[in-house]
Amino acid sequence: MPSGSADCLFCKIAGGELPATIVDEDARTLAFMDINPATRGHALVIPRAHAADLHEIGEEDLQAVAVAARRLAGRVRAQLGADGVNLINSCGAAAWQTVFHFHVHVVPRYAGDPLQLPWVPAPGDMDEIAATGALLRG
Ligand code: 5GP
Ligand code: ZN
Repeated sequence: MPSGSADCLFCKIAGGELPATIVDEDARTLAFMDINPATRGHALVIPRAHAADLHEIGEEDLQAVAVAARRLAGRVRAQLGADGVNLINSCGAAAWQTVFHFHVHVVPRYAGDPLQLPWVPAPGDMDEIAATGALLRG
């Protein structure tokens, strides 16, 4: 399995070639704010090593991403006041996947929020995303 893919957006973020609001990282994973947030605090957890999707990702990376997603779920509750969280992975275009580097969406949910799936991506306010990312980083 390649550890990086030259054309991959998330490999570029993991490699520091493209900017992102990083909120969490460990040896195997990276988490950053989604630029089209479905709700306040929407973040993505990825393996540092490239894998296109759920079928390709190695088991150790899959475990590490799951643990990182749970860590972030705890933070959205503690630091953003979320009432719940959806962890979402889309595998394949038919399942709404648009970026083919495995990722888990950590979508904070707020009681009564209007989110419906699938959400329609729309650009977020970058200042608000950065400020919320700072809260999540702790
Ligand atoms: P998918 O549709 O593949 O499940 O999720 C891809 C996600 O990546 C989308 O929620 C989209 O908003 C997000 N995304 C796409 N391009 C960028 C980018 O350049 N930076 C960040 N931070 N997120 C991105
Ligand atoms: Zn990649």
